[in-house]
Order: sequence, then C-alpha cells, then structure tokens
Amino acid sequence: MTGERYEAGDVHGLSAAGKPLLVRYDLDILSCAVSKEVLAERTDGFWRYHEFLPVAQINNRISLGEVVTPLISAPRLASKLGATGELIIKDEGRLPTGSFKARGLALAVSMAKELGLNHLAMPTNGNAGAAMAAYASRAGIKTTIFCPDDTPAVNVEEIALQGADVYRVNGLINDCGKIVGEGKEKAGWFDVSTLKEPYRIEGKKTMGLELAEQFGWTLPDVIFYPTGGGTGLIGMWKAFEELEAIGWIGSHRPRMIAVQATGCAPIVKAFEAGEEHAPLWENAHTIAAGIRVPVAVGDFLILRAVRASEGFAIAVDDDAILAAGEEMSKEEGLLLCPEGAATYAAYKQSLADGRISRSDRAVLFNCATGLKYPMPSVDKFVDRTKPVDYGRF
Ligand SMILES: *Cc1c(COP(=O)(O)O)cnc(C)c1O
Repeated sequence: MTGERYEAGDVHGLSAAGKPLLVRYDLDILSCAVSKEVLAERTDGFWRYHEFLPVAQINNRISLGEVVTPLISAPRLASKLGATGELIIKDEGRLPTGSFKARGLALAVSMAKELGLNHLAMPTNGNAGAAMAAYASRAGIKTTIFCPDDTPAVNVEEIALQGADVYRVNGLINDCGKIVGEGKEKAGWFDVSTLKEPYRIEGKKTMGLELAEQFGWTLPDVIFYPTGGGTGLIGMWKAFEELEAIGWIGSHRPRMIAVQATGCAPIVKAFEAGEEHAPLWENAHTIAAGIRVPVAVGDFLILRAVRASEGFAIAVDDDAILAAGEEMSKEEGLLLCPEGAATYAAYKQSLADGRISRSDRAVLFNCATGLKYPMPSVDKFVDRTKPVDYGRF
C-alpha cells in the first residue's frame, strides 16, 4: 500500500500503480452517526449498514429486497466428524439473484448511479454478471458482459433476461477481463471487474459486518471462504478492522481460510511458497466456476489477510467437492453450490489434518443457491398402468 489519496466523488478504477483502491471513512464521524442499538432497530439487508458504505444519497441506493443471510448450524455433520465446536453455514444463496455477488454489485451499481456512469462492463463466471445485470437494469444503467464459453446456459440466460448485452468468449475469465480492459476507451464503458473499482469490495464487506452483528459483536474462530478474486475475504477483513477501530469488537480475529480447487489454486501455491503475489495458474479447471480465477489483482491483499489472521490456504479436488455437497444436502438438507461445498470439503480436510481444532466454531460460506447448478439426474419411474410393486419403496 502506498498511502496515496484519491478523492471521494470522483470516478476511480485502479490506483496509478495499477493496484486496488480501498475506501476510507472518517471513523470518528461514523461512530457518532450510528450505534449498535440504532442498528438493531433497522430493517433487514445490507443497506442497514449504510454509514459503513460509500453511497451518499439515499435515492441512489439500489435495492432488490436484500436479506440478512441466515447462519445455519450443521450439528449432525459436526458430531459425525467429532467436532465439539459449532459448524455453521452462512447461506448467501438467499440474496437477490441467488448469490453473494448481489452485495458487491448493489454497491458498485449504486455508486455508478451516484457518479453518473451510464455503461458498465465486466468479465464474469456467471453470478457477478447476473447481479450486475439485475441491479443495473433497476438503476437504468446499460451493461455489457463477457463470460467464458463454458459458462452454464442458465447463467448466461439469466444475465440476458435481466437486461444485459452478454457474450460468450472462447477463454477464461481473465481473457474476458482483457476484452473489458481493452474496450474501456473504445466502447466507452466503465470496468467493474473484481477489485478494479473500489466499491464491490465495500458491498462484500457487509458479510463481515453482518457476521459480527449476528454473533452479538463477537467473531467465530475460523472462516472458510471460497476464494476466487478474493473480494469477500479482503472485504470481511476490512470490516473487522473498521469495527475494531470504532470499538465495536475487540482485537480477536477469526483465522481466515482461503479455499480453492486443486485445478485452480494460485493463492494456495503462493501461500505455501511464502510469496506475496500469485502468478497466473495455467490450464485452470474445476467444476466450482466461481473460484476458477487463474489470476487475481488483489492476490497480495488476500495473502496478507490470511497470514495476518494466522489462517491458511487450502485446495480441494472436484471429487471431494461433489462428495461434500452431496453429504451436506442429504444429511443436513442444505443444497450448496459447488464453491460452498468446497468450503465443507476443506473444513473436513482441515479437521482431519489437525489444521483447525475440534472445538473451533467454524463458519463456512455457501456463496450461491445450489439451485443454479447441475444436479445428478434421476430416472426412476412408476408406470401407473401396471400394478405397482410397493415392496420396492
Ligand atoms: C464469485 C464467487 C466466488 C468467489 O468470490 P470472491 O469473493 O470473488 O473470491 C465463489 N463462489 C461463487 C459462487 C461466486 O459466484
């Protein structure tokens, strides 16, 4: 970090050094403007934290009926694994457009409206594009979106139906990002890529504020976060810093665990090598598309937060992800997205390897609704025109 300052109220992308910009608040003013008691009286959803957010005008807040996402305990699986601490899933699939991308994009689009931007573009593996399309359409802002050509049809169609001009690209998300970056001048759009503008992370930060409030202004022992661009992990870390600075929480921090897939694990590799940056991961592949991010502009911020928290980065393979998802849905009734399932696979592996303690209270992020993803097919059939063999049920 260089300590350089950029004015609020101007349009910002990356810093002059090509690094992410982070929003800073006058925390003295903030702590006079709101209290825990005032907050407790407010309605649901992340706009309840508006003093912690950059949008100045109420009428620029774009909302689609956000909720405070529930913490759901998984006691059956915890006891099966011999954990004595609570195993908790924060289910982000309940947000508008079915993923936690709604948090970041609600903020980015609201700020775009406040700053008078009229055309936004981004690369996406699906969920970010859907959230941007929805919020931007609601704000009357035009969007152009690029996704890898193997993005599931349901995501691409959702993006198109919610008003975006969406294209498949024969490449991965970083290839799509290149098109957005290069087209900035020529097409006149604003680049809303992960961490290439300062406001998506402010939206993702609300996960940290929400967690702290839900836990009565304490924090869990460990957080397993499926890490692609890392906005959520960096955002939560920022939230904890701001909450401590205003005296709402103490200095205890959860260990931040960055979860990736073995087919795309640049952060894990850099973490293990003791590096500050994570070079591009070649031939990235995993069924967990949300964490198929071969290179992250905020790599050093992810690694710093993970290390400062005494956490770690861990990779799980696709078979473990599928098995973990199936176990969670069959035993606890929670249908996870593959990235959410990856956090449960990582939790199991970390417990087995003794990297976390059995008594830890752990929070896993299920970042999207499992309903958007392909499920194993079912072909069992009853022919009602023949006698039914009731013995088979
Ligand atoms: C975007 C996304 C992620 C990764 O989140 P980041 O905060 O960008 O690292 C994980 N899972 C799903 C389903 C996503 O859409």
